[in-house]
Amino acid sequence: MFETVIGLEVHVQLNTKTKLFCACPTSFAEQQNSNTCPTCLALPGALPVVNKEAAIKAMRLGYAINANVNHTSNFDRKSYFYPDSPSAYQITQLSKAIVQKGELFIDLPNGTQKRIGMTQAHLEADAGKNMHEGQYSKVDLNRAGTPLLEIVSDPDMRSADEAVAYLKKLHSTVRYLDISDANMQEGSFRCDVNVSIRPKGQEAFGTRVEIKNINSFKFVAAAIAYEVQRQTEAYEDGVYEQEVSQETRLWSVDEGVTKSMRGKEEAADYRYFPDPDLRPLVVTEEMIAEAKQMPELPDAKVKRYVEELGIKADAAHVITAEKEMANYFEEMLVHGAVAKTAVTWLTSELLGRLNKVGQSIENSPVDAKTLGTLVSKISDASISGKGAKEVLDHMMKNASRDIDALIEELGLAQVSDDGAILAIIDEILAKNQEKVAEYKSGKEKLFGFFVGQTMKASKGSANPGKVNELLKQRLS
Ligand code: ADP
Ligand code: MG
Ligand code: ZN
Repeated sequence: MFETVIGLEVHVQLNTKTKLFCACPTSFAEQQNSNTCPTCLALPGALPVVNKEAAIKAMRLGYAINANVNHTSNFDRKSYFYPDSPSAYQITQLSKAIVQKGELFIDLPNGTQKRIGMTQAHLEADAGKNMHEGQYSKVDLNRAGTPLLEIVSDPDMRSADEAVAYLKKLHSTVRYLDISDANMQEGSFRCDVNVSIRPKGQEAFGTRVEIKNINSFKFVAAAIAYEVQRQTEAYEDGVYEQEVSQETRLWSVDEGVTKSMRGKEEAADYRYFPDPDLRPLVVTEEMIAEAKQMPELPDAKVKRYVEELGIKADAAHVITAEKEMANYFEEMLVHGAVAKTAVTWLTSELLGRLNKVGQSIENSPVDAKTLGTLVSKISDASISGKGAKEVLDHMMKNASRDIDALIEELGLAQVSDDGAILAIIDEILAKNQEKVAEYKSGKEKLFGFFVGQTMKASKGSANPGKVNELLKQRLS
């Protein structure tokens, strides 16, 4: 029997206004090579200056994962030649990263949490992009010098499920912290997966393979499954030494396999050395204070939702997993929704309807204020649950609008006024005196009949709770 060992390296593109070492904007530019300057073009004599916002955002992650945030860290050059890197080296932090030794608590499918050690998070500059068109290859340096935070975990994960749980938690965390938009498709959250196996009980790690740049959680799981099987078979066939080497592999989406890309021994060829143009990054008290300004993170939200709002833990996890969902939920409460009812209406009624039309909470046609108001009207009995579903269905097709007007228009207002309901009840009882006598002589089943008649006479608009209560009074 074998055990899987996984460690992850995630490159997060920081959402700073400008690049890591120059004042060029990081925003999308229509025109290739327009967001460039002598520094990010690596023209001779141009000097880099560290972006304070990038450092603060890296530090904020550090505080969020209980890490050491180093008050002094260093930049090093990693040499390699590739057309998308005009300086022929990448500036990174090898000798001392800004963030070291943290932890991330991941949420496993069975509802428990596991602690994953975090090795470090370091700042580095992104490369440009090569574009291949016909017989020509072109280089666009708009992205060159954009700040990346490379976040490295300890080899603490033991299955594909744990690796995916880790990525989801990290993704959610950087989005809560608002340090990256973390869009996997657009490459602002890229992950490299290191995988090895070892016989159960063996302490030493096996040889690790690094799988590069997988752009969805689903592919991460598939690539790990494939790689574990490949390594296990090699072990069982007695060819582990020959077939499993410390190398970089690529996940081929089309074939569903990993393929050797290059040997890892090239690592020594990077000729790392301290960047002579950059002095150590020294953080100030002001930067520390700013980095520590932090939103409430998912784990704290779960705890608060469970302890203070009385929400079940699994529902609290669903709501807090993505920042947008948690914000939506909290805004519903601001507009009068009762927490438990809000959970149901958000997670089953709204999400169910959004899933059906392939939409997400961010572009929901019904906003949080409107849904919160609607839910509050169920609690104060201005509308029935059934009526509220009709209102929601209507708004899904026609967008949010004034709830009261819509309830009125759809004829869904619920009558809770004692006087109005009693008038109907008295009429029903007067019409059915024989049945009233039977009821009073012990045929209690008839109660349902009276409720049904009253509801019918009100055309379904009477508040059923009130009807029950008032009928009991009248018949006792
Ligand atoms: P490099 O800088 O060459 O990529 P690191 O030592 O920084 O190497 O490790 C990179 C990643 O590999 C880390 O996330 C670490 O947890 C993981 N890792 C290290 N050893 C193993 C192993 N035997 N099996 C799986 N993952 C590993
Ligand atoms: Mg690496
Ligand atoms: Zn520039």
